[in-house]
Amino acid sequence: MEAITFVLFGATGDLAKRKIYPALYNLFIDQKLPESFSVFGLGRRELSDPDFQANVEKSLRMFSRRKVIDQENLQKFIEVFRYRVLDVGHKEDYKTLLQEIEQQEQKLGTKSNRMFYLSVGPQFFGTIAANIQESGLGKTSGWKRLVIEKPFGHDLQSARELNESLSIAFKEEEIFRIDHYLGKPMVQKLEVLQNNNPVFKALWDNRYIANIQITSNETVGVEERAGYYDQAGAVRDMFQNHMLQLLMMLTTHSPNNTTNDDVREKKKIVMNSLEQLHKEDVKSSVIRGQYGAGVIDGNPVVGYTSEPNIPEDSSNDTFIAAKLKIDDYFWRGVPFYIRTGKRMKEKSTRIVIEFKEPLKKSGGTQDENKKPNLLVFEISPDERISLHLNTRDPQNKEKIKPMYIDFHETQANLPEAYENLIGDALNGDSTFFAHWEEVELSWQWVEPILEAYNENLVPLHIYAAGTNGPSASDELLAQDGYHWWFDQ
Ligand code: NAD
Repeated sequence: MEAITFVLFGATGDLAKRKIYPALYNLFIDQKLPESFSVFGLGRRELSDPDFQANVEKSLRMFSRRKVIDQENLQKFIEVFRYRVLDVGHKEDYKTLLQEIEQQEQKLGTKSNRMFYLSVGPQFFGTIAANIQESGLGKTSGWKRLVIEKPFGHDLQSARELNESLSIAFKEEEIFRIDHYLGKPMVQKLEVLQNNNPVFKALWDNRYIANIQITSNETVGVEERAGYYDQAGAVRDMFQNHMLQLLMMLTTHSPNNTTNDDVREKKKIVMNSLEQLHKEDVKSSVIRGQYGAGVIDGNPVVGYTSEPNIPEDSSNDTFIAAKLKIDDYFWRGVPFYIRTGKRMKEKSTRIVIEFKEPLKKSGGTQDENKKPNLLVFEISPDERISLHLNTRDPQNKEKIKPMYIDFHETQANLPEAYENLIGDALNGDSTFFAHWEEVELSWQWVEPILEAYNENLVPLHIYAAGTNGPSASDELLAQDGYHWWFDQ
C-alpha cells in the first residue's frame, strides 16, 4: 500500500479513544496499514506528542480487542502519532498543518495520499471541508479521502445542505460516510451468503418468503446523550440510517463478484422501490413508542421523561416499529417489519426470514409442533446463523420436533466494525459505506414519518422499560397473521 497521512479531527474525543485508535492498532497488527503511515491528531487543547502517544496507548489498553503485549510492536505503532492544536474555525491552523504534513511527505519522498477523518460534531463538517479546500490541504499528488461520522443531517433539507457543503472540497467517490452497522462482520457477509449459496439464492424472493423481521434493540436508556437524542429520537438515531441500511443490504439482488458501483446501484434500486408513505397514513404502518419506568435486569429504572436533561413533557420517540413494502419483482407482497428501541427486554440485533408454508393449506402434516422454516442472522451481541427446520421426534414418532442448524462465531475473534471500515476506506473500497443517493432517499422515505410525528398524527405509546415495546407493535404483525419471533 502507498504511504498515507491520516488526519484526525477530534483526536481527544470519545470515539477516537474507544474505536479509532483500537481499530488502527488491530489493522497494524494484521499488517493492513501501509509501511509509511503517519497520524496527525488534531484538537483544541494543548498536548505534547509524548502525552498524546501516552493517551493513545491508554486507549489501546482499555479498548483494543487484542491485548497489547508486545512492547516493541506497540512502540512501532505509536511513534507515528503526532498531535497538533487546531481550532476548526482558525484558517491559520490549517496552513501550519499543511506545512508540517508536506515536510513529512517530502521526508518520505512519496506521493501525498491524505485521509481526513472527521470525528467531531456534524456542525463542523462544512467549515472543515471549506478550510481543507482553501488552505491547500486538499491538493495532493496522490488521492484524498474524507471519512465522516453520523448523524448525516437532521432531515432531508439539512442532509442536502451538508452534502452540498462537503462537495466544495470532495467528490462523492472521495467521501466515506460511516454507518458502523455496515462494518459488522455479519452484515458484511449477507450479500456473499445470499449470492454464493444456491440454496439461499433460489429462495430469496416473494415466492418462498412470507415476511422479514429486522430488530435492533438495546437495554440501555438515553444515557449521557440527552441533548442530541431528545432532538433525534429512534427514527433519526437508528431507523433512517442503520435500519434502512440493513434492509438494503438484505434485499439487493446482485450478480456475483459485485463491485462498489454494483452495490451502490442496487441499494438505490431498493430505496426507489420502497412504497412511499403519506403522512396521513403513517399511523397505520408505524408505531411510535417511548419508554416509561420499568425494570431492567432486576433493577428499577426511570421512564424517559424522568431522565436527566429530558423535558418532562417530551414526546420524543425511543421506539419505532414499521411495516415496509418493496414494490418490485422480487419482493412485492412480502412485508418487512422493522423495529428498534431503547430500554427493551433484550439487547439484540437480528434478522429473521420467515418462509412460507405452502403445505399448510394443501393437507400437509398438521402438527402443533410444526413451525415455519426460519433463517436467522444474529448480528450482535453474538454472531450466529441458524436455520430452523422440522423433523420427526424420535421419542414420539407421530410428532414433529423442531431442529436447528446453528453456526456461531465468537465475537472476540472477529474484527470490529471500525477495523473493517477504516481498513476499507484506506483501500478506497466504499462498498460498506452509506453513499449520498441512499442517504438522500432514506431521508426522503422517512420525511412523512417526521412530519406525522411533528403534527401528532401518530399516537405515542408508552411502554414499560424491560419489555418488548408497546403492544401496538405486536398488533402491527398480528393484522397480517404474523408475530415477532423470539420475543420472550
Ligand atoms: P466528543 O465530544 O467526545 O469529541 C469531540 C472532539 O471534537 C474532541 O476531540 C474536541 O476537542 C473536538 N472539537 C470540538 N470542538 C472543536 C473545535 N472548535 N475545533 C477543533 N476540535 C474541536 O465526541 P465523540 O463522541 O468523539 O463524537 C465525535 C463524532 O462522532 C460526533 O459527530 C458524533 O456524533 C459521532 N459519533 C460518535 C459515536 C461515539 O460512540 N462516541 C458514535 C457514532 C457517531
